[in-house]
Amino acid sequence: QHHSTLQGHSQVFNAGMLSYSSDKLIMMSELRRAITEGQLALYVQPQVDMRTKEVLAGEVYVRWRHPSRGLMTPSSFLALAEESGVIYPLTQWVLNEAIAMIATLDKAKLVSKIAVNISSKDLLQDELIDSLELLLEKYNVKPQQLMLEIKEGAFAADPDKSISMMRRLHRLGVVLALDDFGTGLSSLAHLRQLPVQHVKVDCSFIGDLHKSDTHTAITNAIIDVARNLELGVIAEGVEELEVEQKLLRMGCNRAQGFLYSRPFELSGFAVWLKQWQERHTKGH
Ligand code: C2E
Ligand code: MG
Ligand code: MG
Ligand code: MG
Repeated sequence: QHHSTLQGHSQVFNAGMLSYSSDKLIMMSELRRAITEGQLALYVQPQVDMRTKEVLAGEVYVRWRHPSRGLMTPSSFLALAEESGVIYPLTQWVLNEAIAMIATLDKAKLVSKIAVNISSKDLLQDELIDSLELLLEKYNVKPQQLMLEIKEGAFAADPDKSISMMRRLHRLGVVLALDDFGTGLSSLAHLRQLPVQHVKVDCSFIGDLHKSDTHTAITNAIIDVARNLELGVIAEGVEELEVEQKLLRMGCNRAQGFLYSRPFELSGFAVWLKQWQERHTKGH
């Protein structure tokens, strides 16, 4: 309710924050500054076709190089960013960097597609469409080169508005994926009405797929539903060769995980890509 009386970007304080600890309030203002002071970084991880060994895309993850706390992963600051409205400028920063990265990697003939995680809050921001169009134009990147990942369950706050924003994104031509699929309860019911092209099976099912009958059953069910709806399936968190082999037998070819690569900064990712390409070039 408090949010509606404030302008998205300039929102620095709302009544809900009265109960925040001073630690949290300090971190909020630090995060706001981190964006303009260059403390954020993007790490990128490959998405591979396990069968052909082709690198299909990269997914970027934001990191915060905090001056005293060190390198922070999203779990320690994303919720705060979402509550405080800092998520909007953060997403804009991520999108700008990611789309610039697509142009760079594409020019170097390394990879032509990048996936970006966006928050459920971003779907309620009308400006998202215009700003995306501007960024794609600025870097001369085609909308099909950008994949946006939205967590299932991102629709809870305002399903109608969220879904209508996804339709607009789809019309713009960007590729949409439903992230962490299988972890929410409403997922299967909603899936048919969502304009997504891929579902990403959550790490929690994939990590021990070779050892868990339950997770195998769930993953099989997801693959089955996805096939019926003509959606792609991407497995996240492949760490073991046994998991890769099992996924291939189950009919899922596309995956990410430490088995292939940890997330690297752009320079490290480019090195990884070159090595991977050398190792998997035809004829080897
Ligand atoms: P996600 O999009 O589902 O990303 C997968 C997470 O699993 C990432 O954690 C990644 O580093 C990690 N991961 C990748 N491969 C493996 C593996 O083989 N095993 C295991 N155990 N983990 C693996 P990270 O970077 O900490 O990100 C966590 C979540 O934070 C992401 O989950 C995504 O929902 C969110 N996130 C990350 N970057 C951004 C961003 O730029 N904007 C927004 N709004 N959310 C982001
Ligand atoms: Mg993701
Ligand atoms: Mg995920
Ligand atoms: Mg996840």
